[in-house]
Amino acid sequence: MSNDTYLPYGRQEISEQDISAVCEVLRSSWLTTGPVVEQFEEAVCRATGAEHGIAVCNGTAALHAAMAALELSPGDEVIVPSMTFAATANCILYQGGTPVFADVDPDTLLLDPAASEAAITPRTKAIIGVDYAGQPCDWAALRAIANRHGLALVADSCHAIGAEYRGKKVGTLADITLFSFHPVKHITTGEGGMAVTDDEAMARRMRVFRNHGITTDHRQREKSSAWFYEMTSLGYNYRLTDIQCALGLSQLRSLPDWIQRRNSIAALYDDAFVGKGIQPLARQVDVLHAYHLYVVRLPGVIRDRVFQHMRNAHIGVNVHYIPVHLHPYYRERLGTREGMCPNAEAAYHDILSLPMFPALTDADIARVAGTLSDYVFETLERKL
Ligand SMILES: *Cc1c(COP(=O)(O)O)cnc(C)c1O
Repeated sequence: MSNDTYLPYGRQEISEQDISAVCEVLRSSWLTTGPVVEQFEEAVCRATGAEHGIAVCNGTAALHAAMAALELSPGDEVIVPSMTFAATANCILYQGGTPVFADVDPDTLLLDPAASEAAITPRTKAIIGVDYAGQPCDWAALRAIANRHGLALVADSCHAIGAEYRGKKVGTLADITLFSFHPVKHITTGEGGMAVTDDEAMARRMRVFRNHGITTDHRQREKSSAWFYEMTSLGYNYRLTDIQCALGLSQLRSLPDWIQRRNSIAALYDDAFVGKGIQPLARQVDVLHAYHLYVVRLPGVIRDRVFQHMRNAHIGVNVHYIPVHLHPYYRERLGTREGMCPNAEAAYHDILSLPMFPALTDADIARVAGTLSDYVFETLERKL
C-alpha cells in the first residue's frame, strides 16, 4: 500500500472464492437455517477441537446464549475482567446477573487469576476470561480456581480463534467458548458469532435459546413433515443465515495462514520497538498468540498526542479498551468507580493498538513502526 493510504487497525480479507461460496447459497433453496449452518458449525468444531458449535448472529448473542446456558438467577454474580469490550459484561445483565469486575495482570492485560479468586462470594456462578488481543488467559490457573469453588468457566475468545495454550486449542479450555465473526476479527461472516462447548446439555440449551426457546427448527420440521412445535423457555431470534455461514466456511480455510502472518507482523513490530520507549504487551510462554490486536504501552508520553499524530499520518491506531467499570452506565447502575481495577485503569492511559491484519505489507509495518518510533523518540528527547 502506498505511503499515505489509510491503514485501519483491522480489516477483513475477501477472496473470489468467498464470493463464489456466498453466491452458491443465494442460488440454493435455503437462505437461512439450512445445511450450511451445520457445515460451518462442524468446521469450527474441527478447527477448535470443540464438540458442539452453535452459530448465532453475532459474538454478543453468543455471550448472551452462554449466560442463558448457565441458568443465572437474579443476584448471581459473574466475574469478568474490566479490560474488555462492554459486551463481555453486558451479557450478564441481560440474564439478570451481576458483573463483578476483577483486575488484569499489568504485563499481559489478561484476567489476573488471584484477583478473580479474591472476588468470589457465595453468589458467584462463573468466571468469564477474555483472551485479550488474541493471547489465551492463564486457563490452567482459572480452571483450578473454578474447580475449587464449583464455578463455570467461560471464555470470551472473540479475539482468539486459532490460538493455543500449552498445546491445547482455544475452544477446549473453558466450559463454553465464544467467538465473533465481525469484519475486524480473524474470520468474518459480516456479523456473526459462535458458542462452542463439549457439554451436550449446555449445547442443547444454547440451540433452543437462539431460536425463540422453541425445541425444533424449521428445517427439522420440514424433514419430518411435521408442523407441531413447542416453546419451552424464553429465547430470541439469534440465528445466523446460510449466506453468512457460507462466507465463514470459506474464510475458515485461511485461518492458519492468517494466524501465521499475524505472528510475523507482531515479530516485525517487536523488533522495531526494541530500545525505543515503546513496550509491546508481554507474552506468556507456551502459547500460540492469535494477535487480533497488536497493543503497545507508551509510558512517559501523552498517548492522546501520539494517537493524533498517527491519525494525521493516516494510520488508524485505536484504544482497546476503556475499562468497562468506568463507563457511565456501569458507574450509575453498579456504583463502580476509579480505583477498583488499578492495573486496567493505568493501562487505559497508555495503551495503543496498531494496525494488525494479514494484508499489511512489510513496507506498511515499517511505515507504522517508523512513524511511531520517531514521534515517541522526539517526545522523550524533548523532556531530557
Ligand atoms: C468483538 C467482541 C465481542 C462482540 O462481538 P460482536 O460480534 O461484535 O457482537 C465481544 N467481546 C469481545 C472481547 C470482542 O472483541
